[in-house]
Amino acid sequence: AIILGIESSCDETAAAVICEERGLLSNIVASQDEAHSPFGGVVPEIAARAHMSKIESIIDQAITEADVDYIDLSAIAATSGPGLIGGVITGLMAAKGLSVSLNIPLIAVNHLEGHALSPRLTEDCAFPYLLLLVSGGHSQLLSVQGLGDYTRLGSTIDDAAGEAFDKTAKVMSLGFPGGPNVERWAAKGDDRAIRLPRPLLDRDSCDFSFAGLKTAVARAFEASDQSDAAKADLAASFQRAVSDCLVDRTERAMKAFKQHRTGPYRFVVAGGVAANQTLRDSLNNTAQHHDFQTFFPPLEFCGDNAAMIALAGLERLSAGRIDTLDAPARPRWPLDGDSARTAPASG
Ligand code: ATP
Ligand code: MG
Ligand code: FE
Repeated sequence: AIILGIESSCDETAAAVICEERGLLSNIVASQDEAHSPFGGVVPEIAARAHMSKIESIIDQAITEADVDYIDLSAIAATSGPGLIGGVITGLMAAKGLSVSLNIPLIAVNHLEGHALSPRLTEDCAFPYLLLLVSGGHSQLLSVQGLGDYTRLGSTIDDAAGEAFDKTAKVMSLGFPGGPNVERWAAKGDDRAIRLPRPLLDRDSCDFSFAGLKTAVARAFEASDQSDAAKADLAASFQRAVSDCLVDRTERAMKAFKQHRTGPYRFVVAGGVAANQTLRDSLNNTAQHHDFQTFFPPLEFCGDNAAMIALAGLERLSAGRIDTLDAPARPRWPLDGDSARTAPASG
C-alpha cells in the first residue's frame, strides 16, 4: 500500500508519502515561522490563509519527490483534529477531494496519534509503551496498548510544556518559535542561578502544571538586569525546572505502567518539545534507572510533519479502519477513550 499523508493543524503545511514495503518515500514540510514571527506566536487567521495557498503545491511536491503517481495511491490520510480549525479544514478538504476523485479510502487521523506513533517511523518500537507526549498544545503521559488504544495517566491542568517554552521566549524576546531559542540560550547559562517553582511535584498523580512556572519566569526577568547573562541563566533555570517536572511525573507513570505488566518496558518521548536535548538526556537517565528502553523520534519527526500522519494512515488502513467522507474537522479531540472516534468534540 502507498499512502499520502497531509498535516495542517497548526503552522506547518506538510505532505508525505509512505509505502508499506519501501518505507517513507517523501516528507515535505513548509513552515510558516516567518509569517508568525512578528507576532511572537501563531496567528490562526494567518495560518489558515497560508495553508490554503500552499497545500496544493506541497501535496504535488510530496508526490513528485516520492516518484509515484496519484493513481498509485491506496489511501489518503489527513489530520482531522485537534488543532486550529481553519488549517484542519483545509487539509481535510484537500484529502476528501483526492479521496473522491481517485476513489480511494479516506483516513481521518488524530494529530496526537501521529505524534504517538512517530517513533515507529524509524524504529522497531512495539506496543505496548509508555508515552510522554510534549508539544505546543499538549502535555500528557499515556499508556499506548495498541493502535487506537490509549489510556491517559496524566495531563497538564493548565499550559502545555511547549507553550511554557514559547511564553518564556516571548517574555525575554528570544525569538519565535520559543523552544529552540530557549534551548540555545540555556546552553550559555547556569541552571541553578535562579530559583523557580516545580509545580505539583508532591502530588500523587501524573498531572503537570506549567502556568505558575511561566509567571515565575516573567517575575524573575523583570527583577533582573535583563542582560544577556541574566537571560541565559533564566533560560537554563527554566529548562531545568521543566526537566525536573517531566522527570518526576514520568517516574510516577513508569511505576504505574509496570504494575500489571512484565518487561521489556518501552518509553517514548514525542512531540515538538521532545527535540530538546537537555530534556532527552534527563529522561533517558530516568528511563534507564527504571528499566525502560527509550525511543526518541529523530528531530525531523518531533515537530509537526506529515510522515507521522501517513504512518498512522498506513497502520489504520492495515487494521481496516477507514473513515467516511463526512468525517468532521475537530478543534478538540482527546486521544484516549473510544469517544476519540465517535463522540462529538469535547475535552
Ligand atoms: P500539538 O501537537 O499539541 O497540537 P503543535 O503541533 O503546535 O501542538 P508541535 O509542533 O508538536 O506542537 O511542537 C511545537 C512546540 O515544540 C512548540 O511549543 C515549540 O516551542 C516546542 N519546541 C520545539 N523545539 C523545541 C526545543 N528544542 N526545546 C523545547 N521545546 C521545543
Ligand atoms: Mg510549528
Ligand atoms: Fe503537533
